[in-house]
Amino acid sequence: MPKIVEITLTPKDSADSAAYTAAAIAAAGLKSPADVAFCRVVRRSIDARRHTSGIPGVRVNMAVELWLDAEGKPDPVHFEWGDVSNVPASREVIVVGAGPAGLFAALELIELRYKPILLERGKDVSARKADIAAIQRNERVNPDSNYAFGEGGAGTYSDGKLYTRSKKRGNFRKALEILHFHGADESILYEAHPHIGTDKLPRVIAAMRETILRSGGRILFGTRVTDFLLSPDSGAVIGVETQSGERITAQAVILATGHSARDIYELLHARGILIEAKPFAMGVRVEHRQELIDRIQYKTVDPYLPAASYSLVAQVPSGKTGTRS
Ligand SMILES: Cc1cc2nc3c(=O)[nH]c(=O)nc-3n(C[C@H](O)[C@H](O)[C@H](O)COP(=O)(O)OP(=O)(O)OC[C@H]3O[C@@H](n4cnc5c(N)ncnc54)[C@H](O)[C@@H]3O)c2cc1C
Repeated sequence: MPKIVEITLTPKDSADSAAYTAAAIAAAGLKSPADVAFCRVVRRSIDARRHTSGIPGVRVNMAVELWLDAEGKPDPVHFEWGDVSNVPASREVIVVGAGPAGLFAALELIELRYKPILLERGKDVSARKADIAAIQRNERVNPDSNYAFGEGGAGTYSDGKLYTRSKKRGNFRKALEILHFHGADESILYEAHPHIGTDKLPRVIAAMRETILRSGGRILFGTRVTDFLLSPDSGAVIGVETQSGERITAQAVILATGHSARDIYELLHARGILIEAKPFAMGVRVEHRQELIDRIQYKTVDPYLPAASYSLVAQVPSGKTGTRS
């Protein structure tokens, strides 16, 4: 069993593996680094409150896992998705939308030995970039490839904050490990406020696509679902029709079309399929200079500290609003 020790360091020492390893070894009461086979950070959070810990200014709280000599090392995060290319048609499932919900659904299906047929109205994550640039340059919006639509879904060009720890939504730890396995930095597994980074997120999404294709899943871009095929006997959904008139049938259909697909909500309503309204949520983007936020949150500017985060919550008479950055 590894030993977990809690340590508190300066931002500089927390960024230096030799310094935090030495601090963890001392905190564990071990004599020498030779007693430790492997050391890794499992939790990290920044505390900028005024305090009396003995370390002036901002401190970093860390939990460090020490694997002692005889125990070897933990295995790196690894996943293997089987090959579903030759499963019978009865194990084919249509997934509509290649946002986070659709991509993770496709991987989960493969794990359960179903073959996902992923239908995405937009383009792949790199081709989509050109359409987003055109919005900024010419204010020209491609209705199927824009900030909301296209591989990766709505938040693809954000910095990919991964703050949820809600267990009711499933195994969030596994979701983080899958993202790390596909190229996200290991720190997302232990940072208190992890984020993937705008520069890396499209590459992570492309790697997830490669896993789906390599495992025998199908992905069709530029394929907008425009209708559902319903069984004349039971009324159950047995497939979909796309904008080109193509009809695709499967064992089941997973709708992962996100908030912005109004045409899909209209279609569900027109086809008499039960839909339920969720409370309305609206996001407002507020931009601040990062240095200002760092000064407010950390009371200092330190090259060893990451960009500070903050949340702003206001109560209004009709309910609550919240903003995060
Ligand atoms: C600017 C921005 C920044 C964000 N930042 C973050 C963040 O940092 N962290 C975070 O957790 N969340 C963030 N979010 C929210 C997050 O993006 C969404 O919660 C998430 O994308 C929802 O995933 P989804 O797969 O359900 O839907 P979506 O991401 O909306 O994906 C739906 C997919 O379905 C496709 N589609 C729609 N209709 C059809 C159709 N008829 N046929 C075929 N395909 C269709 C769309 O093209 C799209 O790719 C952000 C959102 C925005 C807009």
